[in-house]
Amino acid sequence: MLELVPYDEALSRYEPVIGLETHVELGTVTKMFCGCPTTFGLPPNTAVCPVCLGLPGSLPVTNRAAIEYTITIGLALNCTIATWCRFARKNYFYPDMPKNFQISQYDEPLCTDGFLDVVVEGQSFRIGIERVHLEEDTGKSLHVGGATGRIHGADYSLVDYNRAGIPLVEVVTKPVVGTGSLAPVVGRAYVTELRDLLRSLGVSDVRMEEGSLRCDVNTSLAPPGAPEWGTRTETKNVNSLRSVERAIRFEISRQAGVLDAGGRVVQETRHFHEDNGSTTSGRSKEEAQDYRYFPEPDLVPLAPPPDWVDSLRAALPELPAARRARLQAEWALSDREMAVLLNLGALDLIGETIGAGSAPADAYKWWTGELARQANQAGVELPEVGVSPAQVARVAELVKSGTLNDKLARQVLEGILAGEGSPDEIVAARGLAVVSDEGVLAEAVDAAIAANPDIAAKIRDGKVAAAGALVGAVMKATRGQADATRARELILQRLA
Ligand SMILES: [Zn+2]
Repeated sequence: MLELVPYDEALSRYEPVIGLETHVELGTVTKMFCGCPTTFGLPPNTAVCPVCLGLPGSLPVTNRAAIEYTITIGLALNCTIATWCRFARKNYFYPDMPKNFQISQYDEPLCTDGFLDVVVEGQSFRIGIERVHLEEDTGKSLHVGGATGRIHGADYSLVDYNRAGIPLVEVVTKPVVGTGSLAPVVGRAYVTELRDLLRSLGVSDVRMEEGSLRCDVNTSLAPPGAPEWGTRTETKNVNSLRSVERAIRFEISRQAGVLDAGGRVVQETRHFHEDNGSTTSGRSKEEAQDYRYFPEPDLVPLAPPPDWVDSLRAALPELPAARRARLQAEWALSDREMAVLLNLGALDLIGETIGAGSAPADAYKWWTGELARQANQAGVELPEVGVSPAQVARVAELVKSGTLNDKLARQVLEGILAGEGSPDEIVAARGLAVVSDEGVLAEAVDAAIAANPDIAAKIRDGKVAAAGALVGAVMKATRGQADATRARELILQRLA
């Protein structure tokens, strides 16, 4: 039985090298080589035709929009765009691939040699991009009757070809070295940044849970300073950001166990298990020669004219890194505050709250404070917490105008979460407005002084700091609704 080595211990003896291969389904209207729709969730085998079913005599025609999207991705990743390249046939048999070959790109990818920068714990890492190439997706097998959803133990299998032929871009990194113990976090940060980049380009809906963004994670270990990297494993189809991090962590612990025991890591694909974060052996890894690649004879070569590439470059939108830097400056946030906000996924929420009229500092305070706490308590991500940016902006406005104090504002937010309506409706229904009526306040102040003669005496003797206790009593008596600043003024006046 293999011993897992605790993560920190593994890192004290070995250097990890990781690599990521990310598949992105493009958001084109039609498939890569035919006119079938790419809509997700259609009834099985309804979005198919002779081309994507691989029927004899059918011929593929390249989807121009898919080429355009791929070049756009390559440009955003600082790649060189090929002036001439070809599709290749990747030959293998699998039931979800009706042609028994996949049209892909092999030694002539459309985009090469780029990079993407990610920041982890204040440290910037430049992730090299080896290549960005275009291919077609396979269909989907469904194994019925087993406990695991895998083919082993299943009673029978069904296959759905709706996905077969959807344009798929593969983004392959160069080996990522020098990350040390941050390797799993860097891997996750890279996929997050890539997802945000693709979303900003509008080329894919990048939904990991629907499989439109899927990640294969390569991991290897070697002793520090070793002349060669270790043998890598490829954990397939990791389908959440958190799982990317967990898969790398697990492989580091597992491979350290193999190496410590004097064994050799086997080059293979591995399956990731969401439930316990482990990986198990899949199949031994094919070599390129097993696929008998050759140039696709049914398609003409691809030669994007330079002026087309230039026009796509000119049309690139503001990319996430540039946008973050701009917003951080506009909102006057520190690096630490920016990191907090990004960790919470609150960038757009805060942007929309400011757009609805809130000051940046207020938007930041409510989303990263009370609302982050509420989301955490409910076990949901911040955008799903159940309060809209417009509502937060209105609450901030009510605080600014003196109608609410922070404590009452929190009650209003609770009311929104409880489904009691808009901020104004909740203020009215719960009677939450701040009490600044002099008569009511004066009464509460006098009562607080009368009830706390010892504290009152201290304040008379000049211990002004003791006034806080009386303000507290006033707040309690008015159920938090007193104007605390005014109450303090009145207390000090009375006891001067
Ligand atoms: Zn089709």
